[in-house]
Amino acid sequence: MVKAKAALLYAPKDIRVEEITLPDPGEKDVVVRIRKATLCPTDIKKYNALKPDVEEPLKTVGPYILGHEAAGEIIEVGSGVTSVKVGDRVAVQPMIACGECAYCKQGKINMCLNLTGIGGSAGGFGDCVKLYHEEGVGGCFATHLKAPESCVMKLPEGLSMEAGSLLEPLADVVHSVDAAGVCPEDDVVIIGLGPMGLFHVVAAKYNGARSITCVDIDESRLETAKKLGATETVNSAKEDPVAFIRQQTDGLGAGKVFVTSGGRAQAPCAEQALKMVRKKGTVALFASADVRADELTISLNFIHYNMINLTGTVGFGREHGEKALEILASGIFDPALIRNRELPLEEIVTGMESYGKGTDLKIGLDMG
Ligand SMILES: [Zn+2]
Ligand SMILES: [Zn+2]
Repeated sequence: MVKAKAALLYAPKDIRVEEITLPDPGEKDVVVRIRKATLCPTDIKKYNALKPDVEEPLKTVGPYILGHEAAGEIIEVGSGVTSVKVGDRVAVQPMIACGECAYCKQGKINMCLNLTGIGGSAGGFGDCVKLYHEEGVGGCFATHLKAPESCVMKLPEGLSMEAGSLLEPLADVVHSVDAAGVCPEDDVVIIGLGPMGLFHVVAAKYNGARSITCVDIDESRLETAKKLGATETVNSAKEDPVAFIRQQTDGLGAGKVFVTSGGRAQAPCAEQALKMVRKKGTVALFASADVRADELTISLNFIHYNMINLTGTVGFGREHGEKALEILASGIFDPALIRNRELPLEEIVTGMESYGKGTDLKIGLDMG
């Protein structure tokens, strides 16, 4: 049994860093000594209980450890573990699939009908809380994580723990960019430059897109996008992005348009995207919309006559995880441009409170 330090979420806005004891790993489990983790909007939503299903399980089952973006080294393995060994440096792949449903049988773990996840990242939050209290599989905002072997991926030689902790968000984006089929002939537009929008720049560049135009209202984020490989930027507070894209593409429009701004911004941004996409182009919805404003008015005839592909992605498959690690190891971008602040685990509340404000993009945690 391993003693660990963990940030326990007792109730919305109530996180306490305490000592816990992890149960021994089962036959197919590993124990990871987490070195670096990174906060995700999913964690912030749980911390603020923006979803109704958060408070109840914490009250009835018990406190929970958030966090699903992390890297560290293996310190213990169960007797049946074959893919990793003690001492291996790994990143966390947070989806826990059942392995038995129709989607799992096709290898599509992100579509598993019985999905749960590390740190409440997938499936129902209540099921994740139960999994922690019954089997000790919680989240990554802790010095140690017990998890199934399938939840870790070996880091390429020389890759830093900071970079490794970005596996999950970058793999989600690789899924988005590859599902839209971004290739060297493509003019790509990315609307919204939060961390996930910025990762879209990286993944589109990696796929060799001919042009990458970024749209946002924040000058410093537009600057960061340029450093990551954007070929053009449009400040939509000052300029009409639809007119800009039409002009840039001889009136044709862009081939692949990604909407990565979520919340209430998603519907108006998606409407913009549909106005700037070319015939037979793709509009891909990446972020989740505000539940009160998640409906979009679209012309069905526009979709039909222009052969528009309107789609969305969530989560990722093993192959996207492998490619994300390949991108991180390629040196194509500096991860510190996106994971641009780090705090010790003890200061997690500061991170939760300031996430998404000011110049912070992704906030990291250091576990010592
Ligand atoms: Zn995440
Ligand atoms: Zn399944």
